Amino acid sequence: MTRTPRTRADWQIQRNRLEKAANRAGEILGVIGGLWAPIDPFAIAASEESITVIGDDFKNRFDGQLEYHRKQGQFLLFYNSKYDVGVAAGLHHSRTRFSVAHELGHFYLDAHHAHLRRGGAAHGSRGEFATDVMIEREADAFAAAMLLPAKLVRPLVNQDELSLVVVKEVAMQFNTSLVSTAIRCVSLSDFPCAVVGLRDGVVAWTAMSSPVIDAGFYPPARGSSPSRSTMESWRQFQAGEAFGKGSAFGKEWFRTYDRDDLERVHVTEHYLPVQSMETLVVLLSVPEDELASDSDDDDDL
Ligand SMILES: [Zn+2]
Repeated sequence: MTRTPRTRADWQIQRNRLEKAANRAGEILGVIGGLWAPIDPFAIAASEESITVIGDDFKNRFDGQLEYHRKQGQFLLFYNSKYDVGVAAGLHHSRTRFSVAHELGHFYLDAHHAHLRRGGAAHGSRGEFATDVMIEREADAFAAAMLLPAKLVRPLVNQDELSLVVVKEVAMQFNTSLVSTAIRCVSLSDFPCAVVGLRDGVVAWTAMSSPVIDAGFYPPARGSSPSRSTMESWRQFQAGEAFGKGSAFGKEWFRTYDRDDLERVHVTEHYLPVQSMETLVVLLSVPEDELASDSDDDDDL
C-alpha cells in the first residue's frame, strides 16, 4: 500500500494516515455492534439515512462513485454491478463489496465527507490498491479494515507465521479478494512478513507487518524490480501460472538505508497468482531469529 516516499519521515506520515483511515472503519464497526463474517457493506450503507445506493453496469467507467446532492441532502453511492454477473441473487462479488466499502470510506472519513459536502468534485474509484492518490489509498485502507475487521481477523492470522493457506481461508470466509486479504493479513500479523503486488513485472504496492517495520526495513519503491527468483516467477505467471516458493536476501526487496545486517537477512517468498487482477502476489517472510540477532539496539534492556 505504498507509493514512493522521498524520505523515511514522508513514509511515516503516509503510514499514519492509512492507519487512521483503518481505525475509522473499526470505529464504525464498533458502533454497529455484533460482528460476524462476512461483513455486509450494503447493510452498513443502508443504515445511513443520507445514503442512497444505486447499482448498475457502468462498464469500464468506474467501480464506484460517491456524489453529494445538496438539494436532497443525499449522498448517492454508485457501484458497478458488472462483477456480480453469475453471482447468486442477493449476493455480491468480492470486488463489488470492496467498491461499496471504499465509497463508504469517502463517506465516513471526515475530510472526504467535508470535501463532498462543500461541493468538491466526485471521482470514479477503480480497483483495489491500484492507485497512488492518497485519498484513494485512504479509502482502500478503510475498505479493507471494514471488510476484514481487526477484531475478527487478528486472531486468525496470529496462530503462526502467516501462510498463503491462511490468506486463502480468510478471503473465503470474509468474501474478500486475495489481494486485499493478503494486504490486510500482513498488516495485522505479529510475525515479520510483508506482501508485494507485482504488475507489469514491477512492484505495484507493498504492505508490511509491524515487526518488519520495527526492525528497520522500508518498502521497495513503486516501480522497482523484484528479486531475481521472483523475476523468474513473473515469467511463469505471464505464461499462465506461477506457484511455489523462492528465496532472496533482504536487500533484494527492502530499502535498508545501508544497514548491512538487514541487507543479508534471508527472505522466503511464496507466490500467489491472481490472474483476474493481473497481479502476482508475493508473500515475504523473514525468520524472527535473524531479526532478533543483531538488528535491534533500542529495544534491548
Ligand atoms: Zn475513491
